[in-house]
Amino acid sequence: MKSYDAIILGAGPAGLSAGIYLSRAKQSVLILDQGIVGGQVVLTHAVANYPGLPELSGYKLASDMKKQAVEFGCEIQANDKLLSFNFEGKDKFITAKSGEYKSKAVIIAVGGQPRKLGLESEKRFQGLGISYCATCDGDFFTDEDIVVVGGGNSALEEAVSLTKFAKTVTIIHQFDHFQGYAHAIKEAEENSKIKFLMESEIEEFTGTESLSGVNIRSLKDGSTTKLDITGAFIFIGYVPGSDVFKECVSLSDRKEIVTNEEMATSRDGIYAAGDVRQKKFRQITTAVSDGTIAALAVMDYLNGPDPDKI
Ligand SMILES: Cc1cc2nc3c(=O)[nH]c(=O)nc-3n(C[C@H](O)[C@H](O)[C@H](O)COP(=O)(O)OP(=O)(O)OC[C@H]3O[C@@H](n4cnc5c(N)ncnc54)[C@H](O)[C@@H]3O)c2cc1C
Repeated sequence: MKSYDAIILGAGPAGLSAGIYLSRAKQSVLILDQGIVGGQVVLTHAVANYPGLPELSGYKLASDMKKQAVEFGCEIQANDKLLSFNFEGKDKFITAKSGEYKSKAVIIAVGGQPRKLGLESEKRFQGLGISYCATCDGDFFTDEDIVVVGGGNSALEEAVSLTKFAKTVTIIHQFDHFQGYAHAIKEAEENSKIKFLMESEIEEFTGTESLSGVNIRSLKDGSTTKLDITGAFIFIGYVPGSDVFKECVSLSDRKEIVTNEEMATSRDGIYAAGDVRQKKFRQITTAVSDGTIAALAVMDYLNGPDPDKI
């Protein structure tokens, strides 16, 4: 069994920031991720709001964060699987596909998963025309007609980025107004390739082997519009990846991990950072901030008085 000062679950911006701070402070740190390093940032075509680094691709930002953590000595195990854990005692135990680990503290930074529409036809065409990542799949739809579902900043910004590939992008949104920032709305509205279907929702995705159409229901009058499209990108928010931890730390009624200002959860030695924790604003900068605070709090915890000796 390998032993560390701290184990971080999740290698998104929150986990990588915590890893950078802890390993730079000469703590032994392992980051375990069930997927690729970078989290949702890798899904982001262009990051325009990270201070000091304008015009940056999400992939580049994630790669640089990883490099920085590794150079300070942080170990990263990607494409792993968390099989079981025991966080009850002073020592925390984790069993993953890659092996068994022990640590004095754990930071949960597992972010979230794309929220699904929940339609049967969505499941059928996932990976066959339906995607949740413009950066990963946009290129497959060069010169094609596609739809984007959603009305927040992610939907608006990713719709604009998809116009680099697609012939037309129709944004389908359930309300009569968008929830995004004014500049994101303006940019989408001024793009000649983008069309809008407001107060509408997806009734069904259609096709034989892959996606070839979509039936859209008007929420105003119940009428159905059929569009011939080969791609659909869904950006309707995220569901926190906290479910697996629900027996060991307190969750909010929205299933986010509850922490105090120092990112400490309801369980001693277990911290949470980034999109998985209860908070209002979910951004790369706020995830980075959470990761920093969690790492500094873990250092205090590791250097604090040994409760056995008090
Ligand atoms: C399409 C899109 C565009 C966006 N654009 C921007 C933008 O322009 N600017 C901005 O500031 N923010 C943007 N965001 C939001 C931003 O990406 C997130 O707020 C940020 O990535 C959250 O970081 P995180 O580290 O908390 O979680 P994540 O980035 O979600 O990383 C979590 C990591 O944990 C891993 N994981 C999950 N479950 C487990 C498990 N059980 N065990 C181990 N590992 C696990 C995942 O594989 C993932 O790598 C965007 C998000 C999306 C989806």
